[in-house]
Amino acid sequence: MLTRCAEIVGRLGQNGEVSREELVLLLENIGDDALLEELRKNAQQTAQAVFGNKIYIRGLIEISSVCKNDCYYCGIRRSNKNAVRYRLSREQILACCENGYALGFRTFVLQGGEDGYFTDEVLCGIVSEIRFRYPDCAITLSLGERSRESYRRLLEAGANRYLLRHETADERHYARLHPPELTLEHRKECLYALRELGYQTGAGFMVGSPYQTVGNLADDLLFIRELQPQMCGIGPFIPHHDTPFRDFAAGSLRMTLMLLSIIRLMNPRILLPATTALGTIAPKGRELGVLHGANVVMPNLSPMEHRKDYSLYDNKLCTGDEAAECIRCLSGRMKTIGYEIVTDRGDYK
Ligand code: SAH
Repeated sequence: MLTRCAEIVGRLGQNGEVSREELVLLLENIGDDALLEELRKNAQQTAQAVFGNKIYIRGLIEISSVCKNDCYYCGIRRSNKNAVRYRLSREQILACCENGYALGFRTFVLQGGEDGYFTDEVLCGIVSEIRFRYPDCAITLSLGERSRESYRRLLEAGANRYLLRHETADERHYARLHPPELTLEHRKECLYALRELGYQTGAGFMVGSPYQTVGNLADDLLFIRELQPQMCGIGPFIPHHDTPFRDFAAGSLRMTLMLLSIIRLMNPRILLPATTALGTIAPKGRELGVLHGANVVMPNLSPMEHRKDYSLYDNKLCTGDEAAECIRCLSGRMKTIGYEIVTDRGDYK
């Protein structure tokens, strides 16, 4: 390991300022096993100092595969004529929560495409009913870009958290992943609005998305440091066969793990999921994620019959398992590496 890298790693963990150039240097040394292990060891220690051996779970409910957007990477983009579209009813969503609550979930994440059916009125009705039935649970939304007024109303209806990955913090790179009507500027506006309104906010990005450079990734890390979100979701890009990015390679396990460690070191208390995408590119991806500093997993609570249709990328995990089976499987996996799944809400502290 270069002494310069060792010195930067040391500073990362002590709340030290690191420059863009220094982050780029670390990322360029992705091939250095000793560097990766040093980052991993420090990141795991940092996560353990804050969270012990506890892993929080969030129950993911994929409420709609209908989307008005056309992101080039995403399998449910509107131009994908082969995508099967579904939308859960209010009753189906509430049934997922009921099932999840019985299984021990105390956070529900409602995620979906930007589906015009879910107006503020419809969505606030659903959120307030979940809030009424489960006063002890956190409600997280991950439904894309909405107006500030919409975010305000949803918060008032009982939502607490919002996940909106920034996807990439570089404007030119953003424009290569999205059609012109979607801009990084607006995405960021949404994130700042969410944080200001008082949501526990999650940003994040894909690793190894087409045209991404290490400079882009350094900018992602700096953006996280600037925004200071309570959560950060990262996972490898994985091609979907019915998108313009079908022929691009998936992001690498190694780079995703390195970034998890760096994010943990730069943001010791941040809620950092070992994502389904990470579990999809490697058989023990999520376990490795935890060993590199992640502290959250998000098992799927969506109804079985629709799992396969929320197809953001190819070969997504757990499309055939009951929620109970997903949680049993994950608990077992976490146990093998000395971690324990806990059911408390796991608010950012
Ligand atoms: N419509 C919502 C939810 C999007 S799905 C929104 O815009 O926020 C959640 C995340 O899945 C996205 O933010 C994106 O980072 C990720 N995703 C989409 N397509 C992907 C792909 N092909 N590979 C890996 N991750 C993908």
